[in-house]
Amino acid sequence: MAEAVQARVVVYTSRQPHLIEPLFQRYTAATGVQVDFTSDNEASLIERLAAEGARTSADVFITVDAGNLWHAAERGLLQPLDSEPLREAIPYALRDENDQWFGLSLRARVIVFHRDRVDPSELSTYEDLADPRWRGRLCLRSSRKVYNQSLVGMMIEHHGEARSEEIVRGWVANLATNPYSSDTQTIEAVAAGQCDVAIVNSYYLGRLLADNPDYPVELFWANQDSTGVHVNVSGAGVTRHAPRPAQGRALIEWLASDQAQAEFAERNLEFPANPAVPARGLVRDWGEFVADDTPLVVAGQRQAQAVRLMDRAGYR
Ligand code: FE
Repeated sequence: MAEAVQARVVVYTSRQPHLIEPLFQRYTAATGVQVDFTSDNEASLIERLAAEGARTSADVFITVDAGNLWHAAERGLLQPLDSEPLREAIPYALRDENDQWFGLSLRARVIVFHRDRVDPSELSTYEDLADPRWRGRLCLRSSRKVYNQSLVGMMIEHHGEARSEEIVRGWVANLATNPYSSDTQTIEAVAAGQCDVAIVNSYYLGRLLADNPDYPVELFWANQDSTGVHVNVSGAGVTRHAPRPAQGRALIEWLASDQAQAEFAERNLEFPANPAVPARGLVRDWGEFVADDTPLVVAGQRQAQAVRLMDRAGYR
């Protein structure tokens, strides 16, 4: 006699397991569908999906940054999801134009500053950090990180290549130290007084503040009177060759729903991608902000251009 087979869905994810596993457990409890997942970095998972092709067992791909999601779609590894609930839950700017991926949490790439060395009234925009008065006062993460590629890609969209290159050259001229390999190291350098300002993702500052409420680094919402602060997402799509596409879609719809969004964001100190769901905790206390509403696909479309520009400008 055949055994009863439990419904299941298979996920490849580059999101850290402790951020995502509790959600999967809740999903199983709510639906009875077992979630099997493999965690690795996004580049390895993308190569793996490409190599497995039609033999893949993965139904869903979850990763961070629109640049990575765009890359997966561009490689033909995802499929369009015709989902009314997802189109309703996730704003147009936070999803693929062909619905191949949807943002699930929102993070902002913000300016942070040392509270004893900078008055927030001195701060305004990313562009202003190229001004010579910041000479020797700026810290950045490496240009190899997709977060900075997306930020500069959006800057090219707003200002064109020539102006963007001037800005990036100005940043490089203002660097206090060589670029760091992580956002956390970059913030720690500000705290240590190696520099006064930096550009990082909001949740990294959130983690340091959650550990130490007296941490001497504060958040500044960049570009509130111009383009809005650069936001990005973690997000998900159903794989091109998903063996169980309906299960994949159901999982993503659940992750985008009111039931899951608050926890999905809060575990990483991010904001819900679904605007109907309020942010919680420390992140909520950062207050309202104006986000750049340029569709995030642009960050992917301009990624190669951004990489070349940063290279020309000497940003390593
Ligand atoms: Fe990150």
